[in-house]
Amino acid sequence: MKIIDIRSDTVTLPTPKMREAMFKAEVGDDVYGDDPTVIELERLAAEKVGKEAAIFVPSGTFGNELALLTHTLRGDEVIVDDYSHIMIHEAGASAVIAGVQLRTFRSTNGHPDPDEIENLIREKNIHFPRTGLICLENAHGMGTVTDVETMMRIHEIANSRGIPIHLDGARIFNAACALGVDAKEIAKHTDSVMFCLSKGLAAPIGSMLAGTKEFVEKARKGRKLMGGGMRQAGIIAAAGIVALKDMIPRLCEDHENARLLAEGLESLNGIEVFKNRLDINMVFFRFKNHLNDCDFVSYMLKQGIKINSVENGEYRFVTNKDVSRSDVMYVIERVKTYFNQI
Ligand SMILES: *Cc1c(COP(=O)(O)O)cnc(C)c1O
Repeated sequence: MKIIDIRSDTVTLPTPKMREAMFKAEVGDDVYGDDPTVIELERLAAEKVGKEAAIFVPSGTFGNELALLTHTLRGDEVIVDDYSHIMIHEAGASAVIAGVQLRTFRSTNGHPDPDEIENLIREKNIHFPRTGLICLENAHGMGTVTDVETMMRIHEIANSRGIPIHLDGARIFNAACALGVDAKEIAKHTDSVMFCLSKGLAAPIGSMLAGTKEFVEKARKGRKLMGGGMRQAGIIAAAGIVALKDMIPRLCEDHENARLLAEGLESLNGIEVFKNRLDINMVFFRFKNHLNDCDFVSYMLKQGIKINSVENGEYRFVTNKDVSRSDVMYVIERVKTYFNQI
């Protein structure tokens, strides 16, 4: 049976072109700086987000935590969204690796309020921690994007206080597509940006952390400290190059499919789709009657559709390159029959 996997965009499989590039990749020991494929990926990644340099890291979590380690001093405070990946999904790493404490703001559906961030910056005082970094997330895991004007406004505030900004841009190219701008326009208002090759871009492994030359040089040592110095990493970097060259424009297809999926689900009586969080390739919804949640996941699996179970009362369906328009129609049909049979 064919399986349609809409749990995430991390489930995307590498393309035949990626496998071929991996097979043929010229490699060397990257800890010695000898791997030409990694060097090319790092150059290309920096160019894509308009930064001086970039470094290849094993995962997005690694890239974010390396950014924290590189920007901050132990005991610093980092301002971050209460509902961000760094806050919720990185197993408390910021306290372990960078030794910082997090001070959170509450975004509205992933939209940060510049004034609220400004209010959280600490004054100089012997009692206070130093605000060492501001972290933003765009696209946001709640399925929304922040416009360039808001990014610019927060950048101005941060600049005036001498505080760097790190962007968790795991899905920055989705954000760029949703905003109709180049990713550089978003990254411009940050000092460092992390983005994932292994999500919608379909590379098997890896993320990039980009910033100034000086920042990336410092991060290179931090990566070694964290155990992320990888040897013939060109094998996986080769797929990352294909991801950056070929896979960015097609992300918009995932967004169109997500909207199609949202419309189909919304037309079913028992479902409420969160339409104000439909900016990228994610559809969030809930069952109006929570009793319907009981066997939904196992029912869908029997239909050949993999979904995550309900979290905080919400489901999240994620479109990706291995999910076609007709797969989306099939998913809608199956959800409809679920309601007919209960
Ligand atoms: C996926 C993701 C990451 C990184 O995840 P890894 O699984 O560690 O690669 C970071 N931030 C956001 C917002 C993400 O969605």
